[in-house]
Amino acid sequence: MKSRHDPVGMTHEYDAVIVGGGGAGLYAALEASRGARVAVVSKLYPSRSHTGAAQGGIGAALGNVEEDSPEWHAFDTVKGGDYLVDQQAAMILAEEAVRSVYELENMGLPFSRTAEGKIAQRRFGGHTRQHGEGPVHRSCYSADRTGHMILQTLYQQCIKNDVVFYDEFQTVDVILEGRRLAGIVTVELRTGAVHIFRSKAVLFATGGFGRLFKVTSNALACTGDGPAILARAGIPLMDMEFFQFHPTGIYRMGILITEGVRGEGGIMRNGAGERFMERYAPTLLDLAPRDMCSRAIMTEIAAGRGVRGDGKVDDYVWLDATHLGREVVETKIPDIADFCRTYLDVDPAEKPMPVQPTAHYAMGGIPTDTWGQVTDGGVVWEGVYAAGECACVSVHGANRLGTNSLVDLIVFGRRGGQHIRDYVKQTDRVDLPKDACARYQRQYAQLTDGKRGPHAGPVYEAMQDTMMANVGVYRNAAGMEKALRDVQDLREAYLELRLTDSSPTFNSDLLGLLELRNMLDLSLLMAASALNRTESRGAHSREDFPERDDTEWLKHTLVTLENSEEPFGRQPVRMHYRPVDISIWKPKPRTY
Ligand SMILES: Cc1cc2nc3c(=O)[nH]c(=O)nc-3n(C[C@H](O)[C@H](O)[C@H](O)COP(=O)(O)OP(=O)(O)OC[C@H]3O[C@@H](n4cnc5c(N)ncnc54)[C@H](O)[C@@H]3O)c2cc1C
Repeated sequence: MKSRHDPVGMTHEYDAVIVGGGGAGLYAALEASRGARVAVVSKLYPSRSHTGAAQGGIGAALGNVEEDSPEWHAFDTVKGGDYLVDQQAAMILAEEAVRSVYELENMGLPFSRTAEGKIAQRRFGGHTRQHGEGPVHRSCYSADRTGHMILQTLYQQCIKNDVVFYDEFQTVDVILEGRRLAGIVTVELRTGAVHIFRSKAVLFATGGFGRLFKVTSNALACTGDGPAILARAGIPLMDMEFFQFHPTGIYRMGILITEGVRGEGGIMRNGAGERFMERYAPTLLDLAPRDMCSRAIMTEIAAGRGVRGDGKVDDYVWLDATHLGREVVETKIPDIADFCRTYLDVDPAEKPMPVQPTAHYAMGGIPTDTWGQVTDGGVVWEGVYAAGECACVSVHGANRLGTNSLVDLIVFGRRGGQHIRDYVKQTDRVDLPKDACARYQRQYAQLTDGKRGPHAGPVYEAMQDTMMANVGVYRNAAGMEKALRDVQDLREAYLELRLTDSSPTFNSDLLGLLELRNMLDLSLLMAASALNRTESRGAHSREDFPERDDTEWLKHTLVTLENSEEPFGRQPVRMHYRPVDISIWKPKPRTY
């Protein structure tokens, strides 16, 4: 693994720094490196990023199996997102998906193939032909290891292009001079040393934040560091109320069973063995968008039609792939079959899999334009970029379609990298302010002031419990108000926590406390945005406001953390709004 450290000092200088070595970060680094000196700073080794867990595939209208078009793909994306998607951005996504997939193929990505040797494609939820006539084969895949292959392919290309990697460096702050980037502050895991990166541009590609919730498909590192760091620097976050629950997480564990299983013909059944999606989405059935499938499962369970779990209540349903036959299970979803055998002692070719909705994907995040530049809709923060799951372009609106995240990474990671390459040519580095590390130093001082504090575990668990119970698949005012009170209390409790491990080397206690703080910031912004939006749209489904309300709410939420300097505890938030681009298709009711 290539990892170079500056032997002279703790300040490093580059044209551009990419924070995050997942699919979005690596594509941005690769593009930027074609004309700039680029470093990737990543708290994980790049190949361990969550992108590596993506199973199902990457959507692109190649038309290899049947007729397809980018325009249909863009329409499905807009409709799937319940019309909160910015439509020109969705067109860019769908059109550039095609070229980006061929580029990955040319870089050597080993896609699964059709009998004629073309890139194979399968069905996925919400992806249709002719604006909703029926499911279409659009997802390009490499068995059920698509994300893993994307990471390996891009990482090799970055090494070839002399991108410099700072692995296991956790970014803890951004340094801004007004609205212009000066650099970032990082902590090196191995030594505990603080390193500053001074650069003309920084692109945040820190991934998602499923760890806010108790049952999640997301890896331990998905703690939303990038959005939280920018929120504390006074930058608003967009559409934070929209968080996707994937319908088929392994019961109690949350580990994802890819939608590819249903794409190959798998069926969800309730406790009585019924194919219950017939009641909720008569045309697309099990391939309806995820928000609808998750709600259908929760409704079946609430009506007493779930399957009896360990707690002797009816709290999960079956995902049945037994009729697909062993050949399909072993060749199309081999990793899933392995997970089920390992964690459940269930062979999916013989028995159905127990599943329940699992917190999966952040539609909201750092607001950007279609070149990755961070903007609140008016002004741009110069030199500050974001791409991938931590960003909100917005192409997913209120609900993301399966396979569209990997497309988002490669299309907007690539565009961000291209823009940076040009931007750094016309600009100079800004001088670092004297107090560049001040915000981080204050945080560190509070955690190490010599007092003894309780363990962080209960605060982390209480946050996940309240977010799961009150800001989950179904929401209402009383629940979300409770979540807000709980999170504010937990933010006060956080002020009592202290570092228990004083060693500088591999101090995961310190880095974990910093991540917890990030998650408490994002929980606050998410619960507040959700309570504020008095309608149901996509993944934001309110029992007390069950209808979509285009008159009042066809707009993006921007939420700002007020008084984002210390003290951490009880902080107010401020909302403002931005119009949605509906320049191509008029919003319609969503039926499938
Ligand atoms: C189990 C699972 C399966 C999925 N399957 C699919 C699928 O089939 N198709 C699809 O389209 N989408 C899928 N998704 C969603 C998709 O994989 C993710 O949205 C996407 O991979 C996120 O990529 P990213 O590059 O934004 O972030 P990630 O891949 O999560 O990478 C984040 C990077 O940021 C770094 N980082 C984070 N914080 C810091 C910090 N403070 N300092 C420095 N570095 C930091 C990490 O080290 C990491 O390198 C799936 C998601 C999951 C969880």
